[in-house]
Formats: sequence, structure tokens, C-alpha cells
Amino acid sequence: MLKGILHFSHQLLEDTVTKGETVIDATCGNGCDTLYISKLVGEHGHVLAFDVQEQAIKNTELLLKENTRKNVTLIHDSHTQILDYLREDTIGGAIFNLGYLPKSDKSIITKGQTTISAVNIILNLLKKGGLIVIVVYHGHEGGRSEKEAILEHVTSLDQKQCNVLRYEFINQKNEPPFILAIQKK
Ligand code: SAM
Repeated sequence: MLKGILHFSHQLLEDTVTKGETVIDATCGNGCDTLYISKLVGEHGHVLAFDVQEQAIKNTELLLKENTRKNVTLIHDSHTQILDYLREDTIGGAIFNLGYLPKSDKSIITKGQTTISAVNIILNLLKKGGLIVIVVYHGHEGGRSEKEAILEHVTSLDQKQCNVLRYEFINQKNEPPFILAIQKK
């Protein structure tokens, strides 16, 4: 059975993240991915979850509380500022969900330049074999230019340093999301 986008993004992390590692949720939103990776890294692991919107931080905080997760640091800041918060030298993996916070202000969106900047920072810190998973939502206003910028960037990454995968359902209508996964060699 082919896996859907959400399922496959989680599967990719499950296959590469080890318990005890530090993993980054670069866009925590409502906290669905944060909760998932918090379980994946286990109680001795650590999740750093970023979002620029206070509402997203609150939503994620609530979800984590309901699930009694204590290994997450929520950071109300842009993912471009990762180095201001990270104490560890190495990251086990990272996930981005591009676009806007569902059921919220559609004008607050991730943007190509900042996403690329954060991807580059994380790539430097990533363990060998680690993955950056990017779920590209692009059907909204501003989504197309971000999609084009990020695609241009990841296509140009040196194949000696990483492999880049695109996972996509090509017969779906209405600009469905797709996955980009960057694995460090
Ligand atoms: N993964 C989330 C979930 O499970 O609910 C959905 C994330 S939503 C598609 C994208 C989020 O990125 C929004 O909450 C938005 O506020 C956030 N965002 C936009 N620009 C950002 C930035 N520079 N740094 C961190 N978060 C950002």
C-alpha cells in the first residue's frame, strides 16, 4: 500500500531517528508532528519545536500536556534562530511543514528564503544518515514561490554530501502536498 503524505513523513523519521536523540520540529503548528517525534526520541531524547505564532505554541503546548510529554522545548521564534537555542552538537533529524497554520491567519506562512536558511543550518548539524523531511504545502497564496525556491535549492545540493528524495502523488488534483527528504551522507 502506498503511504499518504503524513504517514510517509513520519515513517521516514521513524526509520532514521534513534531514541535519545535531539530532533527539530521547525514548524510546530498544532503540534501533531511535535507529539509524534517526542514519542520517537523517547524520554531521554529532546525535541526543539519552533513557531513564529503564539497560537501555534499554545496549541502545541496543550497537546503535549494532554499526552504528558515532557521532553519538548517550545520556542516562540523563527526556525532561522535555531543556533540561539540548540545546546547539542548533533541533530538526529528535522521536519518542516510548510504553509500556514490550519484554521488560522493564512497570511502568516513559511517563506522560501527563511526555510532555505533553516534547512542549511540543520544540514550542518545533522548526523550522518539523518533526514530533513519537508512537507511542501503550496496551494495557498505565496506557496508557489516558496515551492519553487526550495526545489531550486534542494536540487542543487551536492550529491556527494546528501541524497534528496521527492515523494508525490502525481495524479491528485488541487495542488496536493509533497515530501522532500534530504539525507546526509
Ligand atoms: N506541523 C504542524 C502541525 O502538525 O499542525 C503544521 C505546521 S503549519 C503548516 C506551518 C507553521 O509554520 C505555521 O504554524 C506558521 O506559524 C509556522 N511558521 C511560519 N514561518 C515560520 C518560521 N520562520 N519559523 C517557524 N515557524 C514558522
